[in-house]
Amino acid sequence: MRVPFFDMASELAAVRADVDAAIARVLDSGTFIGGPEVTAFERELATHVGAAHAIGVSSGTDALLATFMAMGIGPGDEVVTTPFTFFSTAGSAARLGARVVFADIDDTLCLDPVAALAACSDRTKAIVTVNMFGYPAALPIGAPCPLVEDSAHSLSSPRGLVATYSFFPTKNLGALGDAGAVVTNDAALADRITLLRTHGARPKYHHVALGGNFRLDAIQAAILRAKLGHLTAWTESRRSHAAHYRALFAATKIPVELPADHPDHAYHQFTIRAPRRDALRVHLAERGVQTEVYYPEPLHQQAMFDGGTFARAEAAALTVVSLPIHPALGDAARETVVQRIAEFYR
Ligand SMILES: *Cc1c(COP(=O)(O)O)cnc(C)c1O
Repeated sequence: MRVPFFDMASELAAVRADVDAAIARVLDSGTFIGGPEVTAFERELATHVGAAHAIGVSSGTDALLATFMAMGIGPGDEVVTTPFTFFSTAGSAARLGARVVFADIDDTLCLDPVAALAACSDRTKAIVTVNMFGYPAALPIGAPCPLVEDSAHSLSSPRGLVATYSFFPTKNLGALGDAGAVVTNDAALADRITLLRTHGARPKYHHVALGGNFRLDAIQAAILRAKLGHLTAWTESRRSHAAHYRALFAATKIPVELPADHPDHAYHQFTIRAPRRDALRVHLAERGVQTEVYYPEPLHQQAMFDGGTFARAEAAALTVVSLPIHPALGDAARETVVQRIAEFYR
């Protein structure tokens, strides 16, 4: 039995009629950037996640970039974050000339709040946590600066100043192209991001701030509206897949470490830590079970960052492997995955 890592075809098939209708509506409207579809999506998204404001933007990366710009982050400032994340969490701050200060992760694979606080200085303008793989990261209590949550994996309600989402097609809520959003309860920040999204123009062609083109396409907003109504059910499927994986692993003596659990876990990924990880992946691939490694190289070891030693992030990069957990995954597929892993360690 083949077990694909993603199943975009089934996910799309489940919503195809609504997506076709959404696209047709935009084609008939003649408005392709911004406009009523974007406004309606922002309202529906804010309601769904329980935030006062949602601002649709061009990608998860631009959501972070626009947020850091709106916070006035630039040269001379520091941003504390985890080295175990996708590049743009840190890259977006570095692009503005800020210094990225890494702090190590904890057992949940999220930024360790104690290490994050210890990494703060009087130049720190933000701590950026990542709700890694959907796990709600522990928050640094008493931080001397605002908290930004990179919630690309969880689409959770902002617990700090602001949260950012990505609607990259394979994320829990995927567009059919690039898209993202910023959500916040802070009206002034929401207004600033809205301004920066269109080159800081207010009114049109009168530029009062240096922004960029961070706009969301109407067609993506309409598609996201069609899919948003399914998100709760899809998340429930992911959680039930995770519970089934846990039960299957518990019935074996496989020497892998299961992901930390939490009632609010969005299970964007089900990421285990496995001895002889790379050989395990080859074994699985040869038997039709697709896996992925997020992320194979911690950011502090990437060419454009400062280096340093973050032992837990480095160990995670060498041992993590994400198993298929897309909503359409069937019982037999999960059993196959665990059986094939058991064979490898037998
Ligand atoms: C996907 C992702 C992003 C960036 O989102 P894009 O929409 O691809 O720009 C940022 N942070 C994390 C943790 C991500 O997984």
